[in-house]
Amino acid sequence: MPFRTPKLRSVRGRVIIAMSFLVVYVLASYIIVEKYFFIKRKGNASAPKVELEYVVVHLDFKGAPPKLAYLESLLPMLKKHGVNGLLIEYEDMFPYDGPLSILSKWNSYKKKELRAYLTAAVASGFEIIPLIQTFGHMEFALKHPELGFLRENPNFTDSICPSSPMSQNFLEKMIGQIIRFHRKIAPLRYIHVGCDEVTHINHCDLCRQRNSTKA
Ligand SMILES: [Zn+2]
Repeated sequence: MPFRTPKLRSVRGRVIIAMSFLVVYVLASYIIVEKYFFIKRKGNASAPKVELEYVVVHLDFKGAPPKLAYLESLLPMLKKHGVNGLLIEYEDMFPYDGPLSILSKWNSYKKKELRAYLTAAVASGFEIIPLIQTFGHMEFALKHPELGFLRENPNFTDSICPSSPMSQNFLEKMIGQIIRFHRKIAPLRYIHVGCDEVTHINHCDLCRQRNSTKA
């Protein structure tokens, strides 16, 4: 019969308690991790569902605009992910008419193919919202020497002068062409007029005379 001192029994007791804590700790960790990954696997089913009237994708055609056939091939995927609106920033890819045709890039979309794309998008249930820049981000227009007189600062092509009646006239024509084109395809409920990042403001004499603040 082995002889155990009270001290030895005390050490053994501590080891048993420590082991018990370790088992509980490992079990708890496993449950937490399993629950976390389970939620991840289930697509975070407990997260509240966000209900939005519109889920809109911004198609920005500056730089390297995609072919319309490719954009059309994306429509089913966008729809599958809950997208129901397209915000289309044409830049120089819109097929402008008349004197405004200088705004259209050499490889701008042809009217026929653009009409076909928009018709397909509308038929798939997408709301179409053209984005027409009217203040900043006007490089696609103001880079042309013929329109240089509309620049707020003659050295920069980004911002149009908001005080000149000629700016208003120009913008009305540009917006008018885009609205008329879209209305022949489907009712147009919204347009987006840009107005972000107007980096040059209150530079020209006309604007300064109005004594407006930069804000
Ligand atoms: Zn001005």
